[in-house]
Amino acid sequence: MRDQPSSVAGTIRLFDLTLASLLAAALAPFWLARLLAAGWQTGRLFEREPLLGRDRQPFCRLAFAGPAAGRGLAVLFNVLRGDLAFAGPRPLTAAQAESLPLEAERRFSVRPGVFSPYQLQRQTGIAHDSETQVDRAFVERMSLRGSVGLIARSLLAGLLGGSERPAPPRLDFFGVPIVNTTMDEALDWIVARASPASAERATGGQGEANSSLLAFVNPDCLNIAYTHDAYRAVLQGAARVLPDGIGLKIGCRMLGVGLAANVNGTDLFPRLCERAAREGLALFLLGARPGVAEQVAENMRRRHPGLIVAGVQHGYFDAAEEAAIIGRINGSGARILLVAFGVPRQELWLAQHRKRLQPPVRMGVGGLFDFYSGRIPRAPLWLREIGLEWVWRLAQEPGRMWRRYLIGNPLFLYRVWLQARKEKA
Ligand code: UDP
Repeated sequence: MRDQPSSVAGTIRLFDLTLASLLAAALAPFWLARLLAAGWQTGRLFEREPLLGRDRQPFCRLAFAGPAAGRGLAVLFNVLRGDLAFAGPRPLTAAQAESLPLEAERRFSVRPGVFSPYQLQRQTGIAHDSETQVDRAFVERMSLRGSVGLIARSLLAGLLGGSERPAPPRLDFFGVPIVNTTMDEALDWIVARASPASAERATGGQGEANSSLLAFVNPDCLNIAYTHDAYRAVLQGAARVLPDGIGLKIGCRMLGVGLAANVNGTDLFPRLCERAAREGLALFLLGARPGVAEQVAENMRRRHPGLIVAGVQHGYFDAAEEAAIIGRINGSGARILLVAFGVPRQELWLAQHRKRLQPPVRMGVGGLFDFYSGRIPRAPLWLREIGLEWVWRLAQEPGRMWRRYLIGNPLFLYRVWLQARKEKA
């Protein structure tokens, strides 16, 4: 906690006590009925789960005994007693706490929470950092506002997200095969493909299939693929298509499957820069307005010392310049080519030139350079945590985005509904 730690902790405790008391008063009749049901069905009132609290003090999390609904509501007793806060790092068992890295110890300086920041990010599929990192950021910035925000967002995400479903390794939306994976695995895949040793094995763009192409798809892309045969064929032949955005999470739910993670290009890019800097893999940035890619290169070099950006080129060139640009890309020694022309132009361009391009990994990244140059600010984390980044983009560029989101999102959901109905039949 940054300033006045004890007074911040005191304010949060007062808030928790007030909220828990109000909820307990409102739920008193239900609690009584649930206690009677527990006693009647099992001869016990509570199940007790031994966990570690603040300063590693042991406590038991309570749940009403028996199978009836509302088991978890007994946790209000824990909040009233001070074992738990409403918002805080996830409470751990002694065995889980044993295997924690040293830097995770900070999480025990506050009460564990009924709602945890990491669990929230998992619900919306954006838990790309480790739980230790997410908890540390929460504890360091702990405030009443932060706690209230986390509770509200967790409740909202719970309503929108529903229960977790098994995540199959592949997803299919409208005939586009999507790899259902995590951010870390996606990064490992890129690094393995881009490193010189494995490039010998990769066939690059020699065959008909585009085995160097990595694409990200959000509902807008899938709407385009629905009617655009050439774009859909490129995605079907790509080495990998990754799921981008909350729309795919909702789509998965409608198809009765789980999304492993929201592996979007914008969250992947800084992590990719970090890995590329470490492994010495050079990037080439192609696309966006003049000056934007240069700015991205400068920003990312500053943030990730050692990062090699072997070349940049804006995306407003004509066909006559194409050969020279491809020559520059190949001559730069870049292992990873990022192309930001927007969908589907970037994927079609990469497919068209697949045989001439040499970087072993080539990816279409849409408006990514605009974010990392600082030209367009990205949605704040709290909006992303409840799956509303698209509302931010709509507010920023309503003239361009209204069709994509206000018509595109419902259209996507309708098409997924049709697909789900067909799969069932
Ligand atoms: N762009 C480009 N050349 C063009 C048209 C667009 O380089 O001929 C760039 C544009 O400047 C922007 C990106 O392509 O940086 C497309 O951004 P958008 O937000 O539309 O991408 P998406 O929504 O597909 O991620």
